[in-house]
Amino acid sequence: MKLGLSECLLGTACRYDGAGSRDRFITDVLSDYFEFVSYCPERLIFPTPREAIRQVEINGKIEIETSNTKRRVTQEVQEISDRLAEDVMHHHICGYILKSKSPTCGLERVKVYQPKNAPSEKKGVGLFAKALLQRYPYLPIEEEGRLLDPWLRENFLMQVFAYEDLRNFLAGEPQMRELVAFHTAYKYLIYAKSTQSYKTLGNIVANKEKKPLDQVLHAYRLGFLHAISLKGNVAKTYNVLLHIYGYFKKLITPEERQFVLETIEEYRDKVVPLIAVTKIINLYIRRFDIAYLKKQKFLNPYPEKLALRSELEAYK
Ligand code: SF4
Repeated sequence: MKLGLSECLLGTACRYDGAGSRDRFITDVLSDYFEFVSYCPERLIFPTPREAIRQVEINGKIEIETSNTKRRVTQEVQEISDRLAEDVMHHHICGYILKSKSPTCGLERVKVYQPKNAPSEKKGVGLFAKALLQRYPYLPIEEEGRLLDPWLRENFLMQVFAYEDLRNFLAGEPQMRELVAFHTAYKYLIYAKSTQSYKTLGNIVANKEKKPLDQVLHAYRLGFLHAISLKGNVAKTYNVLLHIYGYFKKLITPEERQFVLETIEEYRDKVVPLIAVTKIINLYIRRFDIAYLKKQKFLNPYPEKLALRSELEAYK
């Protein structure tokens, strides 16, 4: 799997000050699962080290200028951003992690300097980030700073793995039967994101209007990408856990039932992390060989060693 990156996050000395911004989660953890495709737009048009650039608001328009000499470089930064954003398409990446605060790579809240010494406002988007967002509206994109939040991290990586799964699935030119199987595996994951998406995707797959396969797959792709871009929460996840519990509750003893329900409630009350519940559920699924649940991506959405469900804060 390939993940796009702002190059300085690898530690490459490409920042304006001749330093890198190595991110340990990327270099020490994600590197076990992804091949990286990295870009540094600024390095391709300016020397390193170089004078810093910044966003400034001039007559209501955001421009890019050098911070000391006040040279206007908007066009250069825009052109390289567009060129590299186009290049991204050829690498089949399944997500992108951008460097926060950068006037080129920042995804949100980039400082925009105001005229006449007015205080700067954190309302900008880096030009390269904007070029990516415009071209790939459903590509999972985050900033390294936001990924320090376990909730955003869990949602992002779940989205990345599901995005790649969908791409591989569609590349295999599936038939309707295979679409049903794919959707079935994602039912609870989608349900934990949005009950509306769950219904919409269910209707698409049911295809009561007997639409041609290519139209069904197109609609499913858009609906699926939208669904996985949504953030899950404790309440929806709790609901899914109760649904899943329903598959084996009659097969276990009253004591076991009480224990499972208590653990699910402890998850809801943020006493135990989600992994504590899914471990128990997976045990029963194996014991009773429940084929339908074995295939549910919700229970195993990404490599367990990423340990994203081990933190209480991974669910809000
Ligand atoms: S933030 Fe983007 S443009 Fe700036 S050094 Fe990092 S990769 Fe290069």
